[in-house]
Amino acid sequence: MSKNKPKALVLLSGGLDSILAAKLLLEQGIEVAAVNFRTNFCGPSKARPAAMQLGIALREENIREDFLQVLKKPKFGYGSGLNPCIDCHALMLKKAGEIMRAEKFDFVATGEVLGERPMSQHRQALDLVEKESNLKGYLLRPLSAKLLEPTVAEKEGLADREKLLDISGRSRMRQMELAEKYNIKEYPTPAGGCALTEKGFARRTKKLMEFKPDFSTHDLDLVRIGRHFFENGYQIILGRNKEENEILESLAQSGDFIVKPENFSGPVALIRDGNEEIIPKAKELILEFSKNNGNEKKIEIITKA
Ligand code: SF4
Repeated sequence: MSKNKPKALVLLSGGLDSILAAKLLLEQGIEVAAVNFRTNFCGPSKARPAAMQLGIALREENIREDFLQVLKKPKFGYGSGLNPCIDCHALMLKKAGEIMRAEKFDFVATGEVLGERPMSQHRQALDLVEKESNLKGYLLRPLSAKLLEPTVAEKEGLADREKLLDISGRSRMRQMELAEKYNIKEYPTPAGGCALTEKGFARRTKKLMEFKPDFSTHDLDLVRIGRHFFENGYQIILGRNKEENEILESLAQSGDFIVKPENFSGPVALIRDGNEEIIPKAKELILEFSKNNGNEKKIEIITKA
């Protein structure tokens, strides 16, 4: 057994399961630090208040580029939408493992619960991500630990297996009781997954992937906004309201065109990596989605240098 306090690195999404995983370890006197990974589809907004509530340090890691590669070609495929959950979990755990080794944590822990999520938390999936992330033996799931093989931390007495739990399945009853017991009042309602699990969003992203196989994280940011049209090899995005119009203008990059109403209210069009040939189509779309107030309509064109 190490002489110092054992050190655990907990993947903290900010949901109740990950809060409880950290809490169970803290209750054993283990030193806990949290890590949260940012992709285009998840980030630290819920983890920050959770870490504050737990009184532990939170480290935020940007893995958008790594996630992009996973999304383009997931080894274990997609879930019901375009969500590559097994690969996504494995990626996050692999990164956590790198931090664990570099910064001398004893093990990594997560709030995963056996059988809670159909795609990513059945027994085979849990074994798979552990193996894929090079964490074999060093990944502790405190909420379901008693139903799983003992980890190195348990075998070496760094974590007391007796004080870990045997929760499985989709009922969240025991987690709610634990929240009550530990006086954890603030936690988000369980979410079904990131935007990639939503059918409409997945459809749009799939269209982008077909149209532009070398899409970037910036393209993924844009999928969330506006109406998307794919014309003659170009992508035109039309704002649906004032806020989206402003966001589109702010997200335009070099090589993009902004086409916008000058003397009437209507959508702003962003043409990605455009050329002048496509501007008439953007104008046509702007007029189609504008209110007709009878005035002669002027349209301004801005080229992003
Ligand atoms: S729901 Fe989204 S963020 Fe969560 S594991 Fe799946 S792909 Fe990753």
